[in-house]
Amino acid sequence: MQNCIVLNGDYTYLNTVNWQKAIKLIVKGKATVLKYTETVIKTAENVIVKIPAVMKLIKIIRTIYRTKVPFSKKNIMIRDDFTCQYCGKGKELTIDHVIPVSRGGKSTFENCVTACKYCNNTKSNKLPSEIHMYLKKKPTSPTISEFTRIRSIKTGVYDLLKDLGIY
Ligand SMILES: [Zn+2]
Repeated sequence: MQNCIVLNGDYTYLNTVNWQKAIKLIVKGKATVLKYTETVIKTAENVIVKIPAVMKLIKIIRTIYRTKVPFSKKNIMIRDDFTCQYCGKGKELTIDHVIPVSRGGKSTFENCVTACKYCNNTKSNKLPSEIHMYLKKKPTSPTISEFTRIRSIKTGVYDLLKDLGIY
């Protein structure tokens, strides 16, 4: 079943949750529903519930995420749209340190890119320029707003948010 979109109290995209969690948030008074799906569920207690499509939290959650996208393998791949930054393939993805760790490269957004196994093995501990492998784009630290936009497109909610006038 489709997941429910959770918007932060300021209408920015936060996350998606399954419908059970969505109902829990509403029952606890933590979220309001902006839009329902067509789906109706009958619970064990014979209660009919409409499944929300988009919800908004009553309060604004402030997390580190509000100011900075945390550095993680998953977030690098989201930034790179799950494609190898050398050859453009989307299979067997790994993380490549542009300047290899063995040569002082750091684990940062600016030095890490998504790379397929093949490109990563080929590149090994060399610099891209040494073996003529070129990055499709310069890796940067993603900003919150572009990141939430990419995430909402990825999870298929971007159009819905646009319909609601949120983006
Ligand atoms: Zn590749």
